[in-house]
Amino acid sequence: MNINDSPQAAGLREELREWIEQEVPAGLKGRKQNLLADETLTRQDWQPLLDALHRKGWLAPAWPLEHGGAGFDVGKMIVFNEEWIRAGLPQFRSDGLDKIGPTLIAVGTEAQQARFLEATRKREIIWAQGYSEPDAGSDLASLSLRADKVDGGYKLNGQKIWTSNAHNADWMYVLARTDQNAQPRHAGISMMIFDAQDPGFTISPITTIDGFHHFNQTFYDDIFVPEDQVLGGVNQGWKVSNILLGHERFSHPACNPMYHEYAIRELKQMAREEPRGGGVAWDDLRLRRRVVELEMDTDCLRYLRYRAQSQIAKTGVPGPEASIFKVLGAELLQRIVDTHQDMTGPLGVSWENAPFGEPMRDLARRSARSRGYTIAGGTKEIQRNIVSKRVLGLPE
Ligand SMILES: Cc1cc2nc3c(=O)[nH]c(=O)nc-3n(C[C@H](O)[C@H](O)[C@H](O)COP(=O)(O)OP(=O)(O)OC[C@H]3O[C@@H](n4cnc5c(N)ncnc54)[C@H](O)[C@@H]3O)c2cc1C
Repeated sequence: MNINDSPQAAGLREELREWIEQEVPAGLKGRKQNLLADETLTRQDWQPLLDALHRKGWLAPAWPLEHGGAGFDVGKMIVFNEEWIRAGLPQFRSDGLDKIGPTLIAVGTEAQQARFLEATRKREIIWAQGYSEPDAGSDLASLSLRADKVDGGYKLNGQKIWTSNAHNADWMYVLARTDQNAQPRHAGISMMIFDAQDPGFTISPITTIDGFHHFNQTFYDDIFVPEDQVLGGVNQGWKVSNILLGHERFSHPACNPMYHEYAIRELKQMAREEPRGGGVAWDDLRLRRRVVELEMDTDCLRYLRYRAQSQIAKTGVPGPEASIFKVLGAELLQRIVDTHQDMTGPLGVSWENAPFGEPMRDLARRSARSRGYTIAGGTKEIQRNIVSKRVLGLPE
């Protein structure tokens, strides 16, 4: 495996650095990288960056050219992501670009693609995902949101939970049960798209321990979904959701080693400044050994990711191998945050109104938030089950 930039990728790196230097507004550079989409920015703040990307043809770098993307191959995507994070550019919400967009490209009808892809590429549609229910998380096939057949479409009734960003969504994509008696259960599920402004769609916010409103309970009361808004065919939702989940797991920020590098850099910087017993925290050999291990594991994650991206380039979709990155990347980020907190001791659990500076407050939040990395998109236990069965071929 050659891990150096190809001549094309090297050319893109140079072009990107120049473009960032000249085209990206100064206020959007050098921002703190915290894995979450930057919700401190308004649509107006984003617009100059979106316009600049649009002029350059880079709004959807990984999408194929025929769908308005830049058609970047694996090597170019690595360069694009690296330079984006290195310059501290803000993160978009990725549901449209990284999840439902590629799924529409893979299984959508021509009419669905014509209706949704361009607006998704331009970030004019914000999407949210309705999979999990109070009694269906890891065991997603037991979901019970009903989609009953009516003239010209389906009526949705039921409830979901942990629906990220539903309070900002323009459109929803949900898994619903179209066949109550199907055996096995996953054979009776369909993926449906509907307008989040439908009066039958209501939400109840859930505030998480890090103090953010990110999640919602979502309620579905007689929402009409026309037949042409079923994605990938009736009762084909399981297959469609697996394509989407593959993209979700692989594109989850916790799988991008640039974030790990960023967090380790921050940790080292703080360790060099943190007073400890007449010296600084970085003098402690045990801490330095831990940091070296984190750096080596980050390198491993990067090289494994190169290999998986080559695989995607051949097959077009992330396979079950995406689960490997999801587990490794998410657990590694938690270890980095834990090391940071161990180093800072009691200060690392300080919260609002505590007499400590912003970095410490941020650390406590980040630690609380990081617990979700090994749950979102399928828990680490479920990912390990997938790897054991579908990658290693081990028996049930
Ligand atoms: C940050 C974040 C964002 C999310 N965003 C969304 C979203 O936008 N839309 C959405 O629909 N959902 C979303 N979720 C929900 C997420 O998909 C579920 O939380 C996840 O699938 C687990 O389901 P559960 O919470 O019901 O836990 P459960 O399935 O009840 O699991 C509880 C525990 O049991 C373990 N377990 C369960 N079954 C097995 C098994 N067979 N083998 C071994 N261990 C097992 C699990 O690993 C876990 O530790 C999000 C979650 C998080 C943390």
